[in-house]
Amino acid sequence: MANDVVMVDDVEPPGSLKTVEEDEPPGRSGQVVTLPGAGGPMPHLSVPTTGTENPLASQTKTTASRIFPIGEKAARFREHFFPAATDREWSDWRWQIRHTIGSLCELEKIVRLTDRERQALRLREGAFPFAVTPYYASLLEGDNPLQPIRKAVVPLIDEKIHSAGEAEDPLHEEKDSPVCGLVHRYPDRVLFLATDFCSTYCRYCTRSRMVGRKNKRIPTPERWQKAIDYIAATPTVRDVLISGGDPLTLPDEKLEWILTKLREIPHVEVLRIGTKTPAVLPQRITPSLVRMLRRFHPLWVSIHFMHPDELTAETAEACRRLADGGIPLQSQTVLLAGINDDGETMRKLVQGLVKIRVRPYYLYQCDPIVGSSHFRTPVEKGVEIIRALRGFTSGFAVPTFVIDAPGGGGKIPVMPDYVVGRDGDDLVLRNYEGGLYRYHDGGTVGEPRGDSPYARSH
Ligand code: SF4
Repeated sequence: MANDVVMVDDVEPPGSLKTVEEDEPPGRSGQVVTLPGAGGPMPHLSVPTTGTENPLASQTKTTASRIFPIGEKAARFREHFFPAATDREWSDWRWQIRHTIGSLCELEKIVRLTDRERQALRLREGAFPFAVTPYYASLLEGDNPLQPIRKAVVPLIDEKIHSAGEAEDPLHEEKDSPVCGLVHRYPDRVLFLATDFCSTYCRYCTRSRMVGRKNKRIPTPERWQKAIDYIAATPTVRDVLISGGDPLTLPDEKLEWILTKLREIPHVEVLRIGTKTPAVLPQRITPSLVRMLRRFHPLWVSIHFMHPDELTAETAEACRRLADGGIPLQSQTVLLAGINDDGETMRKLVQGLVKIRVRPYYLYQCDPIVGSSHFRTPVEKGVEIIRALRGFTSGFAVPTFVIDAPGGGGKIPVMPDYVVGRDGDDLVLRNYEGGLYRYHDGGTVGEPRGDSPYARSH
């Protein structure tokens, strides 16, 4: 199984079973620790120690920099489908990308396909590409076409249906693009599209019009330079979100080049990276990547998570490394019919994210890209999910539900209405359990204004 994008040469020494050391040679004795994470117990890991340092300090240091877990599912999958792959190869992100599963006959070896899936994979001409890393494929349930992770990455023939309100570029990103590869919609921030490549393609991707398309232009240093020149010439831009495609599929040196150029611009205060890599290619979060990223603080990372089944030992380790690098982590999730559109699934997801140090940030209504109607829920479903979270779990674990307005209107929050109305000087409020409470809101602002949205009496 192969992908036509080869990122970097890899020549590395063999590794040991279940854990893989990185950046340093093998050969030290180990101790056993358990990684924190969501979704049940994590595998035990052998942690090398030097024998001369404070054991606690040594444990923190070595787990932070030198090993990568191989979860039970991944180990079983590799044994079955990639028996020749060593631990070190499996845990090398470049190996994962080179062995991406990207065709009907490759997927058919792993998954018992339904007619709707097979039809979609046969009609690939001009379609949004299909690709899954071996690691993410190890999470697929071969006999369960309703499995959430499988529905999110394996195409259905339903993608050929063009429904009302759908468009190639519903958010009008092209219209708000002053130079190729850059979107400038909000006053103080821009979206820098660093690559059109992803290691795994989500079927509901907002940028399915451009990512992974062989006939589209591959981003080059010239394209990056034009975007950087635009930012340098636009002093209102203080925040740059580097996205794509997935920017963490770029080799360290290319990403470093982009970050360096952006950091040289005096008015750029904050850098952000939008990525799904910790969920689909967690092995990419190497110690050397984290060392490089931490030189560019303040740097934030927004991670696209979709379902609690993505919160594996491998993903927990990737997030731990980033968080230990001082990088604030937040999540973005698309609300998807039959995948994560119920309060219980979303509660598991947000609570699991908090456990791996990722703060839930946005829950998106699924954008109306062409062929996505089978993923879309009514907007009320998102409101219902927020209602099921707010008050029932920690406030900081509740994301903001937004609609990214078609036509380029930007993100608009949609929330349950907790304000029932006004009764004289009292604001009447409904709490998370449905109980009504009053807040005396007379204060010094005087009489309620006639145009207040809370002016009705209850
Ligand atoms: S990772 Fe992001 S850019 Fe890539 S296919 Fe998924 S949603 Fe699209």
